[in-house]
Amino acid sequence: MSKARYIYNQETCQFELVKPTTWGRILYTLRFILSCLIISSIIYGLHTKYFNSPKEIFLKRENATLKSYYKNLQKEIESVQVIVNNLQHTDDNIYRMLLDINSVPKSVRKAGAGGSDKYAQLEGQDACIIETMKRVDKLKGQLKVQSKSYEELISLANSKSTMLTCIPAICPIYDKDLIRMTSPFGIRLHPITKVVGMHNGIDYFAPKNTKIYAAGDGVIVSSTIGWNGGYGNKIEIDHGYGYITRYCHLSSLNVKKGDKVKRGQCIGFLGSTGSATGPHLHYEVIKNRKHVDPMNYILTDITPAEYQKIISLS
Ligand SMILES: [Zn+2]
Repeated sequence: MSKARYIYNQETCQFELVKPTTWGRILYTLRFILSCLIISSIIYGLHTKYFNSPKEIFLKRENATLKSYYKNLQKEIESVQVIVNNLQHTDDNIYRMLLDINSVPKSVRKAGAGGSDKYAQLEGQDACIIETMKRVDKLKGQLKVQSKSYEELISLANSKSTMLTCIPAICPIYDKDLIRMTSPFGIRLHPITKVVGMHNGIDYFAPKNTKIYAAGDGVIVSSTIGWNGGYGNKIEIDHGYGYITRYCHLSSLNVKKGDKVKRGQCIGFLGSTGSATGPHLHYEVIKNRKHVDPMNYILTDITPAEYQKIISLS
């Protein structure tokens, strides 16, 4: 309520109460309301600035939790990406190399992610959501390609399993029997004729009568005793798929023409028959009628004995 106003009446020499007019009351009320609004606004502003409402506190907590989840999700995506990269590397550099097929082109590996239209529909969404979806889509695409690649590899491996056992892949002499390997594949000075010429195989020096093993599954196409053009007693195995191996200067033979042999099977014994300066094995690999370097077909970390052990265990 407004304070009472008094005015001094000189005629009566008394203070008389001044009665407020209607407009005066209205103006006073408006001033009061305006003052209340201003003060309320100031209090609200200060409160908003320095104090959070319960809803804001709840939302801030929820936001912090979501940020934590997002961070963990990114870490998980990164670790999955590393695993996928390793799978791709093993696929291209080991499995496909073993099966003698080309690696998956990079363009194919990159394909399969969501198109730009898909992300255009997400316009207005938070950037981190769009980015996460892109990364997940990329992984999905890569895994899809990898899955198809494995299907192809399994199919090829099944059809090539026979071929893999036939290809000459082991050393024909057991490691511990080997004294040394001399005269590699290539141009050399012949130890007897002293003429420079092509050496179509590799020579293994070992004690006489050392066991000689078949380098791969196949059929004996030649098992002959005699000079044989300097080869001495020799054995030839046809492995199929264009591969033939030849074992020369043997002391005695353990197989005859037409015999089927398995990789790691003893086929004869080392000697010095034919054109030889001492006991050694001259070993040749012929692919599609052309001599190739046998070293390219020897898995040095596996011996005939180890191979036989693997077969018996399997
Ligand atoms: Zn030789």
